[in-house]
Amino acid sequence: NKIKPDYVIHLAACVGGLFKNMNKNLEIFEINLLINFNVIKCCHLYKIKKCISCLSTCIFPDNVTYPIKENMLHNGKPHESNYGYSYAKRLLEIHSRLYRETHNSKFICIIPCNIYGENDNFSLEEGHVIPALIHQCYLSKKFNKPFVVKGTGSPLRQFIYVEDLANIILLILEKYEGNDDLIVATPEKDEISIKNIAELIAHYFEYDNIKFDTNYSDGQYKKTVDNTKLRNFIDYKMTDIKTGLSNTINWFKLNY
Ligand code: GDP
Repeated sequence: NKIKPDYVIHLAACVGGLFKNMNKNLEIFEINLLINFNVIKCCHLYKIKKCISCLSTCIFPDNVTYPIKENMLHNGKPHESNYGYSYAKRLLEIHSRLYRETHNSKFICIIPCNIYGENDNFSLEEGHVIPALIHQCYLSKKFNKPFVVKGTGSPLRQFIYVEDLANIILLILEKYEGNDDLIVATPEKDEISIKNIAELIAHYFEYDNIKFDTNYSDGQYKKTVDNTKLRNFIDYKMTDIKTGLSNTINWFKLNY
């Protein structure tokens, strides 16, 4: 009411990596339900012209055919590890859709793959894999201890650099007239294993004492998504993982 925005980009969430989700499923469910309900309701009350809400590829069904497409979102149960987060986010999609159907609101949803980059949450316990591993590798080198990567390293992920996601969201805000959810992800061919990510990070720190701790969970093996719809809408060249990681690590070192 005070700011009177025309547009809302709804990124607020209680969010973290696999291990935060596993430890705090209930808390994450409740907080996100409240955040999402309030934001969407207020977008309606204050007559927002367009609201773009952020979902995640981790909320798709666990048991699916690959590559995953937008229309599969509600086709089955999400992975056990993060079902609190997933159902809260799936309801955000339903809530936006109901406003479109009932009030013709331009409330749409994007579905990004794993995100990384500057200004992330670098918590060792609760961060997502890239920021947690950057922090872990930094400390391992400093104290000359093994660089411990949780799980087997075999899971596959698509990673989008935060600058790319931000630029794409602005393009969607300005130019996308559709109502359909949009997966915002790097191409399938750029899918990469956690092991490869750990090796790249270790390479930037010039430290090769990597150990995989298989007492920890791997989470979902993969959640490969198809970005065809996005590519039909824009031709955007994504930052390659090496450049993105090197920018992120430089930022981390400068801001530690
Ligand atoms: P996800 O893609 O939703 O599963 O989220 P994450 O960004 O937390 O990535 C989880 C994957 O990275 C799993 O396969 C984990 O076993 C692996 N992993 C390895 N080390 C870490 C770590 O220190 N933190 C996190 N969050 N994941 C890790």
